[in-house]
Amino acid sequence: MYNYHTHTHYCDGLAEPEEFVEEALRKKMKVLGFSAHASVPFDNPWSLKDENAQEYFDKIRSLKKAYKHNIQIFNALEVDYIPGISTPFATLKKQWALDYIIGAVHLVKKNNELWFIDGPEANFIGGVQNIFNGDIREAVSSYYNQINEMLYKEKPDIIAHFDKIKMHNKNRFFSEDDKWYEQLTEKTLDVIARQETIVEVNTRGIYTGKCETFFPGVPILEKCLKKGIPVMINCDAHKPEDLLEHYYEASETLKKIGFKKLAILTAEGPEMIDLDKYC
Ligand SMILES: [Zn+2]
Ligand SMILES: [Zn+2]
Repeated sequence: MYNYHTHTHYCDGLAEPEEFVEEALRKKMKVLGFSAHASVPFDNPWSLKDENAQEYFDKIRSLKKAYKHNIQIFNALEVDYIPGISTPFATLKKQWALDYIIGAVHLVKKNNELWFIDGPEANFIGGVQNIFNGDIREAVSSYYNQINEMLYKEKPDIIAHFDKIKMHNKNRFFSEDDKWYEQLTEKTLDVIARQETIVEVNTRGIYTGKCETFFPGVPILEKCLKKGIPVMINCDAHKPEDLLEHYYEASETLKKIGFKKLAILTAEGPEMIDLDKYC
């Protein structure tokens, strides 16, 4: 069992790295990847703080070494791509000797404003009004365009929660069946296929009750299969109990779609393994 997406109390998670390792060992997991939110150059309650970074990475590296015979621990980051603001992913990878990077867009930039799509619902709705003059189509297009730019410029190893933009929408402001929306996601999937990025099936929205479907949902996963895009399951754990949460449901969903293999990352690079061996 594998999870490449984990947040500890060094960012917005709720437990020590050691507590996640203990729980992962109890659950007989093969891989546990730590992926703190990379620091951003403004105050916020969710990212790694520059002054704690050295201590954090030292701790993850020492756990990796101490448990190498029991579980494969990875040292990674979930990095926000914000044009003109975020540190180049390659710089971070080198600076902290990262095993991989999960690329994410939580903050959509327009001129000098940032639309926070993953915070309180009021920020999501208010941002569409105030930053995009109520134009939901422009707002959603900007989200996917920023992801495309990230894929081309930064080439992350994994793309975080592909369609998180739907979380606060709840089918009110746009429909995922709208032609323009389908065209946007289709285009981003084509970029993902070209850049050979792994798409994670992120189970967090479901088990926190914030979303009724996985990120991404079934129609997009069907397209991933058609386009030969590698997929993995991640729980985006913020506390030890989150580990492997909703993996059974995710694997059943993927089986029904027709997936036979899932992607894993090894010290030597990405590999495909049988779906049943992943969970
Ligand atoms: Zn995220
Ligand atoms: Zn995350």
